[in-house]
Amino acid sequence: MRNPYINDDLQALSDHTRRFADKRVAPGFLERDQTRVLDRQLMREMGAMGLIAPELAEAHGGQGLGCLAAGVIHEEIARADLSISYINLLASLNGQILSDHGQPEVASPWLKKLTAGEALLAIALTEPRGGSDAANLRLRVERVSNDYVINGEKTSISAADQADAVVVFGRTGSIDSGAHGVTALLVPTDVPGLTRSRFDCHGQRAIGRGSLFFENVRVPMNHRLGDENKGFVQVMQGFDFSRALIGLQVLAVARVALEETWAYVAQREAFGKPLSAFQGVSHPLADFDTQVVAARLLCLQALWLKDQGLPHTSEAAMCKWWGPKLAYDVVHQCLLMFGHGGYDHGVMEQRLRDVLGFQIGDGTAQIMKTIVARDRAGRQAVPN
Ligand SMILES: Cc1cc2nc3c(=O)[nH]c(=O)nc-3n(C[C@H](O)[C@H](O)[C@H](O)COP(=O)(O)OP(=O)(O)OC[C@H]3O[C@@H](n4cnc5c(N)ncnc54)[C@H](O)[C@@H]3O)c2cc1C
Repeated sequence: MRNPYINDDLQALSDHTRRFADKRVAPGFLERDQTRVLDRQLMREMGAMGLIAPELAEAHGGQGLGCLAAGVIHEEIARADLSISYINLLASLNGQILSDHGQPEVASPWLKKLTAGEALLAIALTEPRGGSDAANLRLRVERVSNDYVINGEKTSISAADQADAVVVFGRTGSIDSGAHGVTALLVPTDVPGLTRSRFDCHGQRAIGRGSLFFENVRVPMNHRLGDENKGFVQVMQGFDFSRALIGLQVLAVARVALEETWAYVAQREAFGKPLSAFQGVSHPLADFDTQVVAARLLCLQALWLKDQGLPHTSEAAMCKWWGPKLAYDVVHQCLLMFGHGGYDHGVMEQRLRDVLGFQIGDGTAQIMKTIVARDRAGRQAVPN
């Protein structure tokens, strides 16, 4: 056991995933940044190997493993390609939402496709007017006989143009009702009235982001997730899970960057010595390595708390602001250690672009710190 959270079974799962990722995911890392296409064949292979949402119940195509199992898989896929590990992230986040809040006749077939790697689900919260104040969203959802009719726009949605279905949050209540007037719906992307666009992203280009435009899109009432007007309060709980997973994903990128950099500075010479002989080189790396080990333990702790059914909202928010900030700083430092070579298009600069996205996606550091502050000082003391 390397730490208290990773037992022999989890270590074996991690090793098994690394072998797959080294062979099947890592080789296409640079190319996918150019083609911007998520490899569906790879996704199906991941599904066949049980690497997608293993925490879901067997009835849904999962394996009933703990959230820590999902965590070690996320790490190993992200180490090879952060964009590809979005397949795991979106499946774990949306899988939990569908299994906890979906109506079985709708959710069950989607969950089976999700875990088999045959379907990709996106999640759509952000709107053009803003993402941080998420409870203030305006996408219109009206009930017309037995359907919900959706009008408006969602933007900056990961996998917007590649997803097969989207978990969409819209307003069924009045604007004044805030978080208490939001309903979540599952919307297949082939429904009439739904159009999609793709942005030219800085990083995470294989998964990509884009907008969703809804023009009188209709879904039957049984596509609702959770209760009407309770989408935010019930369904948003799932984000504690994804925040801890994101921490592990970006720290896995930082860890591989550090490994490669330690090896490089040990053999590259300047002034007749290995670079690592200079404390100006080795101490920043030792400093970052220390922080990465600590931040990783925090992420594992958050997942362990979730597996125990214990509260973990603060820990998850800590993972989500610290992990991406630290990973960016680590990869930046590593890139500099490679000198001019680090500045060429290649693995290090792509990692830097990739990890940056998670300083914004799924909520910024400021919003995460507000969540921690609310937990510590109380909601009344931290109203916004
Ligand atoms: C790579 C990536 C992937 C994404 N994927 C998705 C996705 O799949 N689904 C989805 O719904 N959205 C997604 N997003 C959107 C993302 O969730 C939002 O961009 C994010 O929540 C911030 O919203 P915003 O961009 O509108 O910024 P704003 O809300 O306009 O905020 C702008 C700045 O002001 C700061 N700020 C805002 N309010 C406060 C406050 N109260 N106190 C202090 N500072 C504050 C913010 O931290 C930020 O720095 C993604 C974004 C990125 C970059």
